[in-house]
Amino acid sequence: MRLQHRVALVTGGGRGIGAAIARRMADEGADVCLVSRTFSELEEQARWIEENTGRRALPATADVRRPEDVRQTVRTALEAFGKIDILVNCAGISVADASEELSFEQWKECLDINLDGTFLYCQEVGRHMIERGQGGKIINITSVVAHAAIPGRAAYAASKGGVKQLTQNLAVEWGKHNIQVNSITPGYIYTEIFRRFVEQGVHQPEKLEARIPAGRMGRVEDIAGPAVFLASSDSDYVTGTTLIVDGGVLANGYI
Ligand code: NDP
Repeated sequence: MRLQHRVALVTGGGRGIGAAIARRMADEGADVCLVSRTFSELEEQARWIEENTGRRALPATADVRRPEDVRQTVRTALEAFGKIDILVNCAGISVADASEELSFEQWKECLDINLDGTFLYCQEVGRHMIERGQGGKIINITSVVAHAAIPGRAAYAASKGGVKQLTQNLAVEWGKHNIQVNSITPGYIYTEIFRRFVEQGVHQPEKLEARIPAGRMGRVEDIAGPAVFLASSDSDYVTGTTLIVDGGVLANGYI
């Protein structure tokens, strides 16, 4: 039990990578607050966690773009659990469109959710961690597009590149408060976002798989273990960096 007596708030916790991280953290002993816009998904995950891990799980709806929603969910988690030790910013969307076709609304939505939402939660939970004086762990989910270009992903790349740099900056600012801030760079993980891209013909899984050194697509569980490491005291001297969990895609020199 690497996270016993800890409390985690996980955005995007209703499905996909965020849900897998929340389940695994609960398995390791943490109580969790799950955040997204869809209450039914949060409720289902919370029920699964309470029934299968015995930890407490709190569903809290928010649109991560709205500062008032962010404040409200953090307040709700603090009222229920008394503290937040771990923040995981996993809520996100992806946009795939040629830059000359991209509408300003698509650009804004992607930046607002992925980058602004991450900043708002870092700031709100960071303030709590600083005030409490017991340190903390912040894990932001970025992407391989923060390291190398994929045509048609300008908005997504800008948002995730921003998350990667925000992570470094906060790590430097908050090191003196014993708050470790890191990101995880997932490769291609089979989730709702990915499924939609397959339907739209953006991705062809067989072609991708042939180029992934690990020989397969990523699973949500592949990201959950590294997230537990970054949330645990095993990573107390790890801050301001990104953990690349991509089956070797970036090492292979192309994405
Ligand atoms: P999913 O679509 O399965 O999950 C996305 C989650 O984010 C959902 O819970 C969704 O809930 C939530 N979310 C989206 N917009 C908002 C919003 N405005 N406010 C609150 N919650 C929101 O995708 P993944 O699990 O694949 O993605 C999780 C993260 O991992 C994302 O940041 C993504 O960019 C990143 N990632 C994914 C990769 C992949 O291959 N799958 C690769 C690299 C990075 P709801 O819509 O109900 O609000």
